[in-house]
Amino acid sequence: MIKYVGTPASSGLAMAKIKVVNRRIAGFKRVVLAPHRERALFNAAIILAKDELIELIKNSDDAHRDILNFQLVMLDDEGLKRLVNEKIEASVGAACAVEIAMEEYCSRLKAINDGYLSERTTDIRDVLTRVIDILDGKHRERFELTEPVVIVADEILPSDLAAMERKYIKGFVTAGGSYQNHANIIARTMGIPSVCCVNSEVLNPLNNDKIVAIDGYTGEVFVSPNDGTMALFTHRMNLEKREDHLTNQLKHTTVYAPDKTHIQIFANCNDPQDITLAINNGAEGIGLVRSEVLFMSKEHDLSLAGQIRFYTECITACKGKEITIRVFDIGADKPLESLEMEKEPNPALGMRGVRLMYAQPKLFETQIEALLVSADRCGKINVMIPMVSLVEDVKDYLEMVQRVKNRIMDEGIITQDNINWGVMIETPSAAFISDQLAQMVNFFSIGTNDLTQYTLAADRINTNASKYYNPVHPSVIGLMEMTIKNANKYGIKVSVCGESAADFESAKIYIEKGIRCLSMAQNAMLPIKQHLIDEFSAKN
Ligand code: PEP
Ligand code: MG
Repeated sequence: MIKYVGTPASSGLAMAKIKVVNRRIAGFKRVVLAPHRERALFNAAIILAKDELIELIKNSDDAHRDILNFQLVMLDDEGLKRLVNEKIEASVGAACAVEIAMEEYCSRLKAINDGYLSERTTDIRDVLTRVIDILDGKHRERFELTEPVVIVADEILPSDLAAMERKYIKGFVTAGGSYQNHANIIARTMGIPSVCCVNSEVLNPLNNDKIVAIDGYTGEVFVSPNDGTMALFTHRMNLEKREDHLTNQLKHTTVYAPDKTHIQIFANCNDPQDITLAINNGAEGIGLVRSEVLFMSKEHDLSLAGQIRFYTECITACKGKEITIRVFDIGADKPLESLEMEKEPNPALGMRGVRLMYAQPKLFETQIEALLVSADRCGKINVMIPMVSLVEDVKDYLEMVQRVKNRIMDEGIITQDNINWGVMIETPSAAFISDQLAQMVNFFSIGTNDLTQYTLAADRINTNASKYYNPVHPSVIGLMEMTIKNANKYGIKVSVCGESAADFESAKIYIEKGIRCLSMAQNAMLPIKQHLIDEFSAKN
């Protein structure tokens, strides 16, 4: 038995035969033709590489499709092509030109010192290696798996994952890679154990077909495990299977209140990846997508097209389940350096949330257009307005919606209005005027994070005031009761999407007061479900 210890990259246990995939093979004898001929070969290789990618995209799932689409776009990148052509002009030959350009391009991206861009270099290397292989006349190794294996590789490339038959992959062990690279992100979403940064000795081809046991929790890898290790792994894997079975059951179990009505468990999410995870984890819907994340991540783009892409991906990831996207909630605890905003002495009480529409109408109009277009293309969605305290906030916002809608309908950009509009109840004033608000919109979502802050005058981010910050204080519950009463009076849905929905004691009180939809961080859903089932089944 040989033991290696690497970095745990995806939790879980696996034991199976090894399949070694080592691409660190060099030594091709390349013939270099005249630059114009090498250029033609390069252009032809790009076309062939695109064909291969399109073929892979057809059979891949959502996560891979994004990566492969990115690779397709990279093959059209003018900067990269220019770099390759410069090298070809220097008579190094197309294959070598792509190799040099790839190194230069990737080291430029790494030098920017941005985690996201650095991670993308794996995808770029992957697609350019495909081009080099085509130029060298070398077949890319096909992962023709016929039995369960643990893949032991220098690195797992995104396109490898798309080409592998999943049912046979029990785990990954890589000499390179990192916790954050795509293969490991995907391994985690697929629940496949993975260990990276393992001593490269493990790549020895003589390891092929030997048994390996891997522990994705600790990073331990045992090649040819002894009987004791095998017995221990078998025992632990059986325990895991039983736990998985219980978790799976819970994901699909519906929670009922003592009056036998259904309690919906929804998730709060930031992006399509979050949504996919939440839906796979049993979320019955998405109760809050914080759209201001569009400002916070470099990979997102705030243009109309960029927003349509983002919302469309969010809606698609939801797989037909209910989804509620929130209008930009910027300011106070969510300040943005990228947006020029007037300095205010007390931002939590200043121009945050929907109030910003007066200072930044273009920003809000573009978002409305993107939401309307996305809903027109993908189906019904909910959109809610944050930080409402006056009837005018909602009236003015909905007038803006009407203006944008009329314009884009006239222009034939959309043919229908597929949005249910709602209001977040997160100021005491909104709860007090919920009678009027309920007549203007289709649903309420109670944001207990802010409702508690504004009701008890306790800054949500100031730990000194934590004694005052109580989301089940009678004052907050009183406002909630008022809101529920008015929602019921006008027959509109009311849910809770603040952090306290994930707190068992608070959730129980909200349910007693009449709430039947709780939206929370996706990893809180199953524990809350279990608590509520235990609590209410004892009463039934
Ligand atoms: C809330 O205020 O409860 C809420 C869900 O919104 P945020 O925490 O984003 O302000
Ligand atoms: Mg809020």
